[in-house]
Amino acid sequence: MSNIYVLMGPQGAGKGTQSQLLADRFGLPIVATGDILREMSRKDTPFAHHVKEVLASGELVSDDILAKVIRDRLCLNDCVGGCILDGFPRTLPQALLLEKIAQEDGNRIVVIKIDVPRELLLRRLSGRRICKKCNSIYHVEFKPPKVDEVCDLDGEPLFTRPDDSIEVIQQRLQLYQEKTKPLLDYYGESNRLYRVDGTGTPENVFSRIAEIVAKETNTERGNAAQ
Ligand code: AMP
Repeated sequence: MSNIYVLMGPQGAGKGTQSQLLADRFGLPIVATGDILREMSRKDTPFAHHVKEVLASGELVSDDILAKVIRDRLCLNDCVGGCILDGFPRTLPQALLLEKIAQEDGNRIVVIKIDVPRELLLRRLSGRRICKKCNSIYHVEFKPPKVDEVCDLDGEPLFTRPDDSIEVIQQRLQLYQEKTKPLLDYYGESNRLYRVDGTGTPENVFSRIAEIVAKETNTERGNAAQ
């Protein structure tokens, strides 16, 4: 039995940064559906063009497409010992599908919700910059690169995601309220939900999350030994 850690929280809560820190500390793979979809959207096919359009609009990609994306990814070998989910599930049908996949593999779902006030979310999102090549995340205010608009690791120019414009950010936060927030009740009712304070430095937030993951990893080992 392995643990599937679901990081939840609105866009800008720091799920991407925390996933990376968790992956480094606990040796778990990150499954970030947004990254997978962005990668898919770069091809020159009608399907890729469709995905690209939906991403740029800030809408959600359909549950059918996500079902295929997540099944194809979770069945890969690196997920056998568990994984970190960033950006999935986002709707109730997706949560139910994840439940089914976890049951089939005998895995547990542990949900960690990162709480951040709305004003801070907007500041974080509008200053975010990404390296297309290595997916490193920067911020003009909170984590600037050494050279303006250039990735420290590979010298590639940084870019602003099309869905990080103010209008699209508002739309994405609205969708989060409507579609994803109800999942917190769903997981809360079955006692699988932890809430952590997402303000402060990434390291502050990480120490809160790492404590939970360490505890849950021990439970996982205890269960396996029985
Ligand atoms: P993210 O990088 O997680 O903010 O995701 C970027 C975009 O990818 C979202 O605004 C959606 O258009 C799409 N996306 C990512 N994950 C999902 C999901 N689980 N369900 C539907 N759409 C998704």
